[in-house]
Amino acid sequence: MSNFNANDNQVRGGIYLCQVNEEISCGACCGLYNVVNPSYESIMEMLTWRTNTFSHVKREMDAILAFKEKVEDREPQERPFPDFHHCPYIGLVGKKRSRVGCLLHPLLDENKGIDFRGLSFYGGMACRVYFCPTYNNLPAVFKEIVRETASNWYAYGLVITEAKLLNTIFEEVAKRLNRPLTANSLLKNNGCLETVRELLDLKINWPFRRKSSSGPANYFFEDQLYSRPPINYETIGEPVSRHDILLQELESYFNSANDLQAAENLIDRLIHNVINQIFKPKLLFRRIII
Ligand code: SF4
Ligand code: SF4
Repeated sequence: MSNFNANDNQVRGGIYLCQVNEEISCGACCGLYNVVNPSYESIMEMLTWRTNTFSHVKREMDAILAFKEKVEDREPQERPFPDFHHCPYIGLVGKKRSRVGCLLHPLLDENKGIDFRGLSFYGGMACRVYFCPTYNNLPAVFKEIVRETASNWYAYGLVITEAKLLNTIFEEVAKRLNRPLTANSLLKNNGCLETVRELLDLKINWPFRRKSSSGPANYFFEDQLYSRPPINYETIGEPVSRHDILLQELESYFNSANDLQAAENLIDRLIHNVINQIFKPKLLFRRIII
């Protein structure tokens, strides 16, 4: 699969995160996940409709703005984060429409090199130059691991903005390995990739997410308008967990000490699986001489 790593040296931090390859990309800062139903199926339906409909829209200001109205009439406008703009121009891009991206971008065939992003809420300049805090706050090796292990754009975009969660996970793996983490050590075989994916998919599948959570969407802007509340350990009579940061970042709530223990064990087991895979010896084939 062709990748877009050639853009690495053009971004701060040296690892380009927004468009990774034909299948993997992110639209989190365009508000992609800030929707009432953030399931893969629902978001996919939304993006497919927009992409198909927009392909018939004349590339003229009035028609492009009318498309926005149509989208907003069709889709629920309640948002988990009401002050986080959700852009109606995010859709599917690429030769096979296999990843998420901007329908106003000049590289979209139908746009014939013209940048229409100036018609969006943020305006063309903001869309061009914005880089989320992960660019600054996640070490290059961790960025590379997430980029290379992502199984699809949906999971990737949900986790890549979670700099604190990712730092905590990978630092814990490194601590238990008793050596710095390298991308090679984690990307060396499919077993390893699978265990890392399983660990990162906690972000999507976390069974202890509190009911009042806004869902898997992340408000990652530095104004911290919607910060995550601390875990209340007092109500279950337990001390602060060894995985406190992870539990908070996953927006957990526990009804009992048993629940907390189950959550800690789940995290430990997934980290342990990654470590096991790293230490698993490579299979060596010897020539048998008869
Ligand atoms: S949230 Fe970050 S990685 Fe995702 S598209 Fe925006 S700037 Fe790129
Ligand atoms: S116009 Fe800007 S905010 Fe909207 S999808 Fe494109 S890049 Fe994202």
